[in-house]
Amino acid sequence: MEKRKKITLVIPMYYEEKVAEECYKRVKKVLEELKKYDHEIIFINDGSKDKTLEILENLAQKDKTVKIISFSRNFGHQAAVTAGLKEVTGDAIIIIDADLQDPPELIPKMLEQWENGNEVIYGKRKSRKGESKFKLLTAKMFYKTLNALSDVEIPKDTGDFRLVDRKVVDTINGMPEHNKFLRGLFSWVGYKQKEIEYERQERYAGKSKYPLKKMLKLATDGIISFSSKPLKLVGALGIFSILISILILIYALISYVFKLNHLSAGWTSIMVTVTFFAGIQLISLGIIAQYIGRMYDEAKGRPQYIIDKKINIKEGKEEKDEK
Ligand code: UDP
Ligand code: MG
Repeated sequence: MEKRKKITLVIPMYYEEKVAEECYKRVKKVLEELKKYDHEIIFINDGSKDKTLEILENLAQKDKTVKIISFSRNFGHQAAVTAGLKEVTGDAIIIIDADLQDPPELIPKMLEQWENGNEVIYGKRKSRKGESKFKLLTAKMFYKTLNALSDVEIPKDTGDFRLVDRKVVDTINGMPEHNKFLRGLFSWVGYKQKEIEYERQERYAGKSKYPLKKMLKLATDGIISFSSKPLKLVGALGIFSILISILILIYALISYVFKLNHLSAGWTSIMVTVTFFAGIQLISLGIIAQYIGRMYDEAKGRPQYIIDKKINIKEGKEEKDEK
């Protein structure tokens, strides 16, 4: 008999006590209807201090397909998903948000595409309900900038909601880099990719866990890890400022020769040029610092996250090797 295939769900949670239970119910229902496949659900508690972990632990007691990784503190969404990917035992892995903005009912459709030989099936948001104008605008700007700067095409309006073949997950797991910008990496690796459109729903309950600060971090991570064009921009700024100073020099010479002595007032022109060049230098240093900071992070080799405990996950490789 052919071996049954297994689906793994990876679901990060940060202060999601209001959605945890409902999230489990909705995804479980979908998974149970897929009789052809075995399944497991890996929840990552990203350092929530509310009842999230307690709720998950109760679920894990009743249902052995529920597995939990709990962090020692908040390490961020990307770290949580990365940790989940390390523990998968399934053949098809689905990354999905806890708040049900990404409808689990899309999973059967994704599986169909997977059975047709696609290896990365990502959800593309046709519309986004219940998200502020500000979020929509900044998201749009982000994808525009990222694609203008980066060497790989990163599909816009996609989040981390996707189905990925085990082969691709193993590839990603094998990469030593910290601070993984997953949606970029999943494009970068190649393989057979397929997009599925969907309507992004409103959050089931609770508030977004992505304040501006976290969005900015995600955006810089995305840009810095997929492009070195900002560094080239520094060079371009340098040339630009040299050109400007040559123009000023020519202007000064001309006014000297033709005795247009209004330059002696001088103050404005000096202040403008000094602050302008100081600005350019500081921006350039700032850009370079971003890269150096990341290199420093990688060089320290600290783990991307710390796991406090695991539930229903066997240590070692036995379970994975059963596959
Ligand atoms: N999340 C996380 N750690 C964080 C922030 C968010 O694990 O530091 C999880 C969160 O619980 C949710 C997913 O990442 O499952 C997406 O977060 P959210 O829905 O708040 O983001 P938004 O949809 O508003 O962009
Ligand atoms: Mg959300």
